Amino acid sequence: MISPTDRFKNKECIFCKMIAGTLPSEKVYENEHVFAFRDINAQSPVHVLIIPKKHIVDILDVSGEDSEIFQHIFRAAQLIAGQLGIAGSGFRTVFNSGDNACQTMYHLHLHLLGGTQLGGSLVG
Ligand code: AMP
Ligand code: ZN
Repeated sequence: MISPTDRFKNKECIFCKMIAGTLPSEKVYENEHVFAFRDINAQSPVHVLIIPKKHIVDILDVSGEDSEIFQHIFRAAQLIAGQLGIAGSGFRTVFNSGDNACQTMYHLHLHLLGGTQLGGSLVG
């Protein structure tokens, strides 16, 4: 169980370190606002995480002034789906928030999943 204090630390944030290039990642896309890389424990042939460059914990942590980040994240999802050849076959996008959703990384990330027929259940 991660303490609430730990969730809000960005000094230790693995995803921030990947953006900074101090930890390796398999980058698939980057622009001024977002960074995207392959999930280390891919759950489908294409499993990419799209994250804001700013350290934001989860959906609840997106302030009004940061809300444009969703446009940037979903625009990146469109581009990456095209780039990786799954735009036509279909894909799933998921944000997990908090314990009941099994969020494990406390830097906002959109999962982009595809490349195969995904299961019909959204709740595991
Ligand atoms: P969530 O459960 O929504 O918080 O998802 C976090 C995701 O981050 C999981 O799918 C992990 O496999 C992925 N992950 C954790 N560490 C890394 C890493 N170093 N590189 C790439 N993906 C990672
Ligand atoms: Zn971070």
